[in-house]
Amino acid sequence: MDVIESIARDIRNAEHVIAFTGAGISAESGISTYRGQGGIWNKYDPNIYANIDTFLKDPTYYWNFFRDVRYPMVKNAQSNPGHRALAELEKMGRLQAVITQNIDELHQQSGSTRVIELHGTTRKYFCLKCGQRFDFDNVYEMSGKEIPPSCSECQGMIRPDVIMFGEALKTDVLRAAFEEAEACDFVLAIGSSLVVYPAADIPARARRRGAKLAIINKDETPMDHSANYVLREAAGSVLPAIVDKLNSP
Ligand code: NAD
Repeated sequence: MDVIESIARDIRNAEHVIAFTGAGISAESGISTYRGQGGIWNKYDPNIYANIDTFLKDPTYYWNFFRDVRYPMVKNAQSNPGHRALAELEKMGRLQAVITQNIDELHQQSGSTRVIELHGTTRKYFCLKCGQRFDFDNVYEMSGKEIPPSCSECQGMIRPDVIMFGEALKTDVLRAAFEEAEACDFVLAIGSSLVVYPAADIPARARRRGAKLAIINKDETPMDHSANYVLREAAGSVLPAIVDKLNSP
């Protein structure tokens, strides 16, 4: 039996399956990963461009990065066969939740409905002073006129609805994710280097409890040794192949 067939068999026999995703699943949509080949952190230091202390001291780094790199990269990105396969698994009743570190909303765009966003979303913004909300296109337009853009209601500081380095994850979001880790008996860990904590503790926790773990990631990860399956291949090929196997009699 090949690996895809074994994973499909385990998913068929599982009662509660979760997917834990990282930047790698969106790489085939043209969004750079942080680490690995083509990783954006090779070029932009996260302690300057995505750190809360730096942002509060001098938000111009973030906003220049947003205007010149992030917005153009994410704006027209379309979900790919990997995202769509997860949405299909949910429709088939074979996937109970997607827990993602991604901030691009491509899981939702592809039709997944139960998505837990650990690190927030880069498509939403709010004013730190009055709470006024702004969308992606709004702030892009504003950043074309003024950097950093300020709130149209009160001139307060605008920030992205993402968790930056140096910030804690939201308690309710983390709780929901760990409840999934406690409930599941099969985890697909996809496109993540599995080095960012506490996020990476979600598949690790599930595995320690006895859930089966399949890692689909192009590079080696620190959890490969404890996984039941390791596929160092593109998510956009492996996930549709698993769906096909589940659909075949
Ligand atoms: P990471 O950049 O640390 O690791 C990505 C991994 O994906 C690498 O190990 C690489 O080998 C693998 N990969 C690349 N292309 C792949 C493909 N086609 N199929 C399968 N695997 C592939 O990503 P991470 O673990 O998610 O790191 C965490 C941080 O990255 C999070 O804080 C997250 O918010 C952030 N991030 C998100 C996005 C996004 O929203 N799309 C993009 C960049 C970074």
